[in-house]
Amino acid sequence: MKRDYYEVLGVGRDATPEEIKKAYRKLARQYHPDVNKEPDAAEKFKEVKEAYDVLSDPQKKAQYDRYGHQDPSQSQGFGGFDMSGMGGFGDIFDMFFGGGRRSNPHAPRKGADIQYSMRIEFTDAVFGMDTDIEIPKEVECTTCHGSGAKPGTSPETCRTCGGSGQEEIVANTPFGRIINRRVCHTCGGKGRLVREKCRECHGQGRVKIRRTIHLNIPAGVDDGAQLRVPGEGEAGVNGGPPGDLYVVLHVKPHPFFKREGNDIYCQVPISFAQAALGAEIEVPTVDGRVKLKIPAGTQTETSFRVRGKGVPYLRGSGRGDQHVKVRVVTPKNLTERQKELLREFAEMSGEAPQEVPASDEGFFDRMKRAFRGE
Ligand SMILES: [Zn+2]
Ligand SMILES: [Zn+2]
Repeated sequence: MKRDYYEVLGVGRDATPEEIKKAYRKLARQYHPDVNKEPDAAEKFKEVKEAYDVLSDPQKKAQYDRYGHQDPSQSQGFGGFDMSGMGGFGDIFDMFFGGGRRSNPHAPRKGADIQYSMRIEFTDAVFGMDTDIEIPKEVECTTCHGSGAKPGTSPETCRTCGGSGQEEIVANTPFGRIINRRVCHTCGGKGRLVREKCRECHGQGRVKIRRTIHLNIPAGVDDGAQLRVPGEGEAGVNGGPPGDLYVVLHVKPHPFFKREGNDIYCQVPISFAQAALGAEIEVPTVDGRVKLKIPAGTQTETSFRVRGKGVPYLRGSGRGDQHVKVRVVTPKNLTERQKELLREFAEMSGEAPQEVPASDEGFFDRMKRAFRGE
């Protein structure tokens, strides 16, 4: 008579997946044949493993909860449990220390991704550009087609590991015998050995080349943007697909323009007369010069918006704006004639030294208070 799976693991019917796992680990450790030398340990371990395999699988657990050991959907019920898939009992080391998942050294693997840093000009980031880059990469050797063996010869299966690429290290510990796996030292995990090496790649099966790749940088990219070029990474292993190339863009700062998102900022000097009388000035943009109207009476640090002269939106259409901040430059090195005119100007404005126009009283009052430390 088969024992109830919950009973086997010693948990209640309402046990959480965590509790089931915990109970299983404890019992498996207790009965694992590598550790427990009692004659019925293997049988007990098998029973525990079977119970866990069912109760840890939500679908199987639901069926078991409903039908018990008599599952009508499976002619064998749960009894036909097969240990062969895990290679006997599996390694206790693998089970408890998370070590060495058996990986097939001959399985196709995707090649590594390549990351490539690239500096571009401010305006190239704004408008995008087409360019060719040269990147060093590894590709499959064409002489040996990746086998690493001299043409006419072929690699041999490694005798140390029998082609698995892993070797077993047996250690005796207080727990008992523990089998650890590590990468085979003879073949380095490849499972195969090349006796006569291909001259082109020195047995590596891969060669380093420099490859020219055409890159289309879209308008509007910002500093730190990454472009993915599929299939231009390192060659795959054992016939696997190549990796991808990631180009990371670093945008050089511009001496005049600053960028924030899709808007561009700049500062433009204007004269006192232009600020006072108003003027039409020329302002640089990434598209070239544009005219900007400064109204009479403009204060320093006033910002003006030039629509549509910013950075194009990467997704969708349209562009950001350019913000032009004007700075009123106080004239220096005045000629006598200029000084005379300014004194006349001051007089006509009713200014005596230390006097200010009525409209700015508030500002000067605040400044005077600051001087007095208030
Ligand atoms: Zn080769
Ligand atoms: Zn080996």
